[in-house]
Amino acid sequence: MNILVLNCGSSSLKFQVIATDLEAIERDEDRMLARGVLERIGTEALITLRAEGRAPVRDAVPLRDHRAALDHVLHWLVSPDSGVPGISSLSDIHAVGHRIVHGGERLTRSLLIDDAAIEQIAECIELAPLHNPANLKGIQSARQVFGSGIPQAAVFDTSFHSTMPPESFLYALPYQLYVRHRVRRYGFHGTSHRYVAYRYRQLSGHDYEGTNIITLHLGNGCSACAIRKGASIDTSMGMTPAEGLVMGTRSGDLDPSVLEFLHHKEGMSFDELDSLINKRSGLLGVSGLTNDMRDLLAEEKEHEDRRARLAVELFCLRVRKYIGAYLARMNGADAVVFTGGIGENSPDIRGRIAADLDFFGIQPDEERNRELVGGREGEFGAEGSRIRLFVIPTNEELLIARDTLRCVLGVPRRW
Ligand code: ADP
Repeated sequence: MNILVLNCGSSSLKFQVIATDLEAIERDEDRMLARGVLERIGTEALITLRAEGRAPVRDAVPLRDHRAALDHVLHWLVSPDSGVPGISSLSDIHAVGHRIVHGGERLTRSLLIDDAAIEQIAECIELAPLHNPANLKGIQSARQVFGSGIPQAAVFDTSFHSTMPPESFLYALPYQLYVRHRVRRYGFHGTSHRYVAYRYRQLSGHDYEGTNIITLHLGNGCSACAIRKGASIDTSMGMTPAEGLVMGTRSGDLDPSVLEFLHHKEGMSFDELDSLINKRSGLLGVSGLTNDMRDLLAEEKEHEDRRARLAVELFCLRVRKYIGAYLARMNGADAVVFTGGIGENSPDIRGRIAADLDFFGIQPDEERNRELVGGREGEFGAEGSRIRLFVIPTNEELLIARDTLRCVLGVPRRW
């Protein structure tokens, strides 16, 4: 089955076409036929499209909205020039899988999309006002193009964390606020944490029940997850993605009273404070330079920029604190797994995070660490490191495609 995986952001659309079936899943032989990114939708969009085995094609085309972006993608997919194997008309696409950011408390499993599901996803807009409306635009656009002809499934970023117990997901606020408004921690990046836990099982030979690990998704957004007996029991992001680790532009953990203080001192409105902690803080805010870790590391090295160094140090220290917290949370772990743009590509950051943790049984091997870049998967713990250290490149789209297939076939997922 050829599955179109869509990930719609407020002004972007990312997609992959993945050919898979139950046998392919069993053998890990799913095939990515095409992928692409369309950014700055609403103006002159920047487009990168790539068919399997071919060089990427870049273009700039005015695209009004997500529907126009999807039309552009589909037109390219079916055109003979694109060279996408096995796709020559829309009927060669058999299902669509959507990444949905927030499923709230009720949408805890991937599901086939019908009117009721759309309503429930819309109900979660107040929890994810930036993300869920964009995700819904993707669903509506695909419905308009494909009609009811092909099934569509929703896969939620929050659902992997739905196994968190109340003591992990509750804030220590008056309980009535949870009852009245569902104010609680939900966690995000769930599909990524779930994917790397699955790959960890394949690499380590552990089974689901034997999966006791800490996963670190370090990209532009960052989160840590404590996985015990295969299930998420704690994660660093909260009711929104703002909580937890230091990120590209988000502050992560913060004394909430700072916001009230700044409201008085700087006359900032709630909207401005929200933008402050989500868009102007983190690596960007501390360094005053950029949210891009690669550039910060270069600034630190080449110009000995003090604030670039401080931003990177804050970033690493926060991750180390969460590792410590989760080792206490789980009474130890078998492995720490790094993923995301930074986790997959920066031996420097991995090394700084994992240094001086030998008390916990964490000992990196510098040489092995340096080798794991550019999408390479592997281990970098030294001989004798009690806790194993892994780099596992994430692949959320693959899980979305597999979940979509299972939803369509009505087959329950095993993990
Ligand atoms: P997103 O969360 O938007 O999907 P990514 O997972 O692609 O983002 O991660 C983006 C981050 O990864 C950026 O901070 C980028 O600088 C960082 N990154 C990518 N490659 C490297 C590298 N070689 N060294 C350090 N950081 C890197």
